[in-house]
Amino acid sequence: MQGVTVLGATGSIGESTLDVIGRHPDKYNVVALTAHKRLARLVELAKVHKPDYIVAADQADYVELANLAKAHHVSATVLAGESALSDVASMAEADIVMAAIVGAAGLLPTLAAVKQGKKVLLANKESLVMSGQLFIQAVNENNATLLPIDSEHNAIFQCLPSDFKYGDLASSGISKILLTGSGGPFLNTPLSEFPRLKPEQACAHPNWDMGRKISVDSATMMNKGLEFIEACWLFGLRPDDVEVVLHPQSVIHSMVQYNDGSVLAQMGNPDMRTPIAHCLAWPQRIESGVKPLDFSTLSDFSFLIPDFARYPNLKLAIDACKQGQFATTSLNASNEIAVMAFLNNQIAFTDIGRVNETVLSRLTPIDISCIDTVLHVDRQARELAMVCVKECRQ
Ligand code: NAD
Ligand code: MG
Repeated sequence: MQGVTVLGATGSIGESTLDVIGRHPDKYNVVALTAHKRLARLVELAKVHKPDYIVAADQADYVELANLAKAHHVSATVLAGESALSDVASMAEADIVMAAIVGAAGLLPTLAAVKQGKKVLLANKESLVMSGQLFIQAVNENNATLLPIDSEHNAIFQCLPSDFKYGDLASSGISKILLTGSGGPFLNTPLSEFPRLKPEQACAHPNWDMGRKISVDSATMMNKGLEFIEACWLFGLRPDDVEVVLHPQSVIHSMVQYNDGSVLAQMGNPDMRTPIAHCLAWPQRIESGVKPLDFSTLSDFSFLIPDFARYPNLKLAIDACKQGQFATTSLNASNEIAVMAFLNNQIAFTDIGRVNETVLSRLTPIDISCIDTVLHVDRQARELAMVCVKECRQ
């Protein structure tokens, strides 16, 4: 029996994780569930999965969560506040921690799990983008097991040889990592319509059902940019080792190309329960609830090279990856502010890239050697992004 803490339990990844866990009551028990808002949903999930702890991310929500738990006869211990997220990520009962908080808010609780040497299932790509080297160093120093939930990175992980050494493509005879992406909902939308695109359109992804922030990131392809950076840190790659390929059907989730001409691809229906089940049980395999691929109905398999005029955010992220930690931390922070402003109808879809580009051009890089500096750079970039959002609105 393995104890699991789910950080971000009420989100798309959190709910999918609980769906998989619920299929294997003999293997997993839920230690803690956390949420930011939607506390009623958190209590509903607690009724089903019976965790020892439920946590509201905001200290001010303690009383509301405690009252909800009491009213619904949920006996879990109620906690609240940022430090409680890290507490349930690092407690001894949790063998596995699913890091599924969205955005920079996921960094400290995910790191807390890493520092206790947990098996960490990483969905929160932003934490790795923000702190890259420091994060990987913490994984190594604490003997944590870091497993990629992001479908592309999970696919790459499955296509790499089992004796793959971090950063050493040559010894494994690998020539390229092919990071696939669907191109999002605006792959074929005329560029002239981009300034008028609305949040509901951006959140209607053709293949994946996801949270709102990552949905907008998929529409701008900032998501693929963050994944490009994530891939470099997860596997020790140089930017030149990675190529982004568009594959609108989202059946191939990424590929590894070998020197002999072989290309290994991982395929499956676009359903996050596959990588979640893979990481939960790794190195074993368990049922995920995902339907098998039906090759009789799969007709088109197409591939394209991304156009940076359509996806300027992808180019910004790849350039930031080449520049280093300061640029990726700043870009991640700026993007969170810009996406939120777009979702709140404060700026246009095309302003997201404008805000991100302006923030990167106005900040002066500093060396990042500790998490406090990461948090400082994150705050500074957010403040500047808010100024840029205001400038867009004038
Ligand atoms: P979501 O918006 O559906 O859920 C986010 C979760 O985080 C919720 O439980 C929410 O309560 C919690 N949260 C939000 N703000 C918080 C804060 N300030 N403090 C603490 N908790 C907070 O998001 P999602 O789609 O499930 O994505 C979660 C993470 O997984 C993201 O980093 C995303 O990039 C990554 N990811 C998601 C998918 C997907 O298919 N949804 C795929 C790959 C990677
Ligand atoms: Mg992904």
